[in-house]
Amino acid sequence: MPILARSSATAHGSNNSFSKLHIAVDDVSAGYNNLPTDREYVTCAWDDEVKAARFYTSSVMMFGSTASVNHSCRLPSLIERLGARLFGTLARAYVDDRVITDFVAAGDSAQQALAAIHRDIGIPLAACQHAGCSQCKRNPRPDPPPSMPKCKGRRPSQIQELLGVVCDVSQAHTGSVRYSPRPARCAKVLRELEAASKSTLSARQAERLCGKLQFICNSSIFGGVGRAQTLALHRRSQSRSMDGRTPCTSEAWTADLESARLFLEMILHRDRLPQRVVEFQESPPIIVYSDAEGCNFHIGLVAWDPWDPKRIHSANGQCPLWLREHARSLSPDVRNDDDGMINVVEMAGALALLTTFPDLLRGRRVFMYQDNSTAFHCAVTGNCHDAAVRDVGARFHLAAAGLGIGLWVEWVNTRAQLADAPSRIHEWKTHGGPGHEHETPFSNLITDIRPIVLPAEREWPDQLDFLDQMRDRA
Ligand SMILES: [Zn+2]
Repeated sequence: MPILARSSATAHGSNNSFSKLHIAVDDVSAGYNNLPTDREYVTCAWDDEVKAARFYTSSVMMFGSTASVNHSCRLPSLIERLGARLFGTLARAYVDDRVITDFVAAGDSAQQALAAIHRDIGIPLAACQHAGCSQCKRNPRPDPPPSMPKCKGRRPSQIQELLGVVCDVSQAHTGSVRYSPRPARCAKVLRELEAASKSTLSARQAERLCGKLQFICNSSIFGGVGRAQTLALHRRSQSRSMDGRTPCTSEAWTADLESARLFLEMILHRDRLPQRVVEFQESPPIIVYSDAEGCNFHIGLVAWDPWDPKRIHSANGQCPLWLREHARSLSPDVRNDDDGMINVVEMAGALALLTTFPDLLRGRRVFMYQDNSTAFHCAVTGNCHDAAVRDVGARFHLAAAGLGIGLWVEWVNTRAQLADAPSRIHEWKTHGGPGHEHETPFSNLITDIRPIVLPAEREWPDQLDFLDQMRDRA
């Protein structure tokens, strides 16, 4: 029973360190068709060759129906339990994909055990089992024929592609796992965009590209990066103009689409694909607050690291005039309306947290509190109907990607907003008035004060330089 033996051998490792991991991948052959239905169903499909409707009966679950997915997901749950109970395997399934994590020391025994369960219940895996296949055989035949069958099995590896994302568990035994988008997939999206830029882009094409980008950019790799910059693609996929309201059926390549393409060329470049690092250790998140006041547009920041609990950092300063003028140039809503401007300045406050405290935040989990609902929404989704907020939000998500932080943004009631006090320090001082109601307790709380840092006016247009700066900034 080598498989059972390995569990105890690795669990009682000689040097108390965690054993090295690797991951194998398998796919179920013919997916949903393995599952019977309660009775025969009739489906109708249009046959394009004979130009007529055709009727089919089916006694298995079919592709394209939601019920098939729901029904199918019960099966991997059963197989997971069988594998865990009988063989101590740690396999998980995403619909019909099997992700089989195992100890390196256990070789491919977990993958073999899963394959055996699948064989015994009569639901085959899609691995080709060819004697010459290097993914199916431990010792493949040295002279495989020139044309091999397509194989969906993947032998265990410390760097494995899962669902279009590259997962690197080579450092898992030290407590961290890295994810990054697959370079070939990124290159394909860029090629498609370049081809479209030389002709046209239909709503359908845009929709397909958005689907791929969603997987590449948002599936826990970049967070919200690229949502603001690629809005033109989303609008095209919905056949709407940039305001999101007016219907637009044009397929022409526009300046907005071109700027989205240039942004993606930058962020999806092979040499600078960000990696998402997931740490296993119980490292507490840093708590940060930002707030702004709408009279002189001052920003206040607070940061507290539970690992250094006696220090509470704060920063304050005015949102630069050029940034407010830039916002007015971008957004008609903001042009003559201070209420609109406050949203931009609140978003600049959230950005300032990342650019002022990079030394505290880099590589950490971050809990961020925000009381302005427009800035909150933009910080979470990367998007906003207001172009000026979106413009600041784009830098916010670039900064988060550059620092490699795990970000969670939460809305907080203004009355519980710790950064309200530092955003009003200027007001207390200049007016010599009664001061902020929490001035004294706040002053007693803060141990470290620094000026706020925001990108300079000349740096603002160069998003690539900004991303690189955030990566390097100590
Ligand atoms: Zn194979």
